[in-house]
Amino acid sequence: MSRFGHEVDSESEIDDDIEENSQSLPEEGHLGTEFTDEGMLPAEAFSLLGSDTRIEILQAMSAANADASPVGFTELFERVDIEDSANFNYHLQKLTGHFIKRSEDGYEFRHPGRKVVSSIFAGTLTDRTQLGFFPVDGDCHRCEGDLHGWYVDEVLTIACVDCATVLVRYPFPPGGIDERTPAELLQAFHHYVRHHYCMAADGVCPECTGSVDTELVYEPARDGRLDVIVEHTCQRCGYDLQSSVGVNLLDNAEVLMFHSERGIDLSTEPFWHFEWCVSDEHTTVVSEDPLRLRINIQCDGDELRIVLDDSLSVIETARHERLSY
Ligand SMILES: [Zn+2]
Ligand SMILES: [Zn+2]
Repeated sequence: MSRFGHEVDSESEIDDDIEENSQSLPEEGHLGTEFTDEGMLPAEAFSLLGSDTRIEILQAMSAANADASPVGFTELFERVDIEDSANFNYHLQKLTGHFIKRSEDGYEFRHPGRKVVSSIFAGTLTDRTQLGFFPVDGDCHRCEGDLHGWYVDEVLTIACVDCATVLVRYPFPPGGIDERTPAELLQAFHHYVRHHYCMAADGVCPECTGSVDTELVYEPARDGRLDVIVEHTCQRCGYDLQSSVGVNLLDNAEVLMFHSERGIDLSTEPFWHFEWCVSDEHTTVVSEDPLRLRINIQCDGDELRIVLDDSLSVIETARHERLSY
C-alpha cells in the first residue's frame, strides 16, 4: 500500500457501497491486472456507464429528483435527448438492477447506484464535470475493449469497460486536475506515475527522497494478481509501492532506444498502452535461486529481451529482430 503525503483512503465511498466487492479492490499504487471472481468490481459497475445515453439518463434521474419520488418512463424519456424510445428503453434496462430500480410508480435510484453516481457527478459541483467518467485512448490488452478512466477520491483509475480489467489505479493530487482537459490530465498522469516508479527504481523515494530498497517478489498464483511484482520500500518514511516489472524499465536506456528506433517515444506515449508495463504476460522467471527474470518487450515485430536480477538490475539484454509478423 503506497503512502502519499495526502492520505488517500482507497476504501472509498464507492468501495464501501459496493460492499460485496470491496475486498477484491486493488490497493493504491498497485499497477496491473485485477480481477474478481464474482460480484461486481467498481470497474464493472462503471462499465455499465460506457454510453452517453446512460450517463444522460442518470443525470435526468437526478434532475427529476428521483431521490424524492420515482420518475416515470415518459418523463425520463422526455428529459433525455434521444429520439427512439426502444433505444432509450434498452439503455434504461442496462442501468436497471445495479444503478436504478423499477417500481410501480417509476424509476428510483438504488442505494449503491445512487452513491456511485453521486461520486461520479461530484465533479459537476467542482468544475470537474468531464472527469467523472471519461474515455481513455487505447485498448484493453486482455480483450481489446475500450478503456475508460475515472477520478474519485483522489485516485485515478483506468479500466476496460468490457472485461473490467484495471490497468492503472494510482493516487493523483487534485491540484493536477484543475484546468486540464481529460487528455491533458492523462498525459500528466502518465508522467507523474512513470516518474514515481522510475525514481523508486532508482533508489530515491518519490515521497521524501529517502533511500528506497527495491525487491522482486515472485509469488505465483496469487489470486488474480501479478505473479511477479516489484516492491519498493523507503527506508526512511516507509513509503511502500508495488508495481509490475515493466513499468520500472520505462527510463532504461536500452528500452527507450529500442522504442525510439521504431518511432515510439516512451516518455510521452502513455505506459498503459504497453502490455509489458501493466501485466506480467511478458515476464518469465528464468531462475528462482537466484531469482532471475526475463521480460520480452515486443515492438514492430522485433523483440528486446531483458534479464533482471532480484534487485531489478539489468544483467543481460538481447535483441531479436523480426520475430513475428
Ligand atoms: Zn478488457
Ligand atoms: Zn520516503
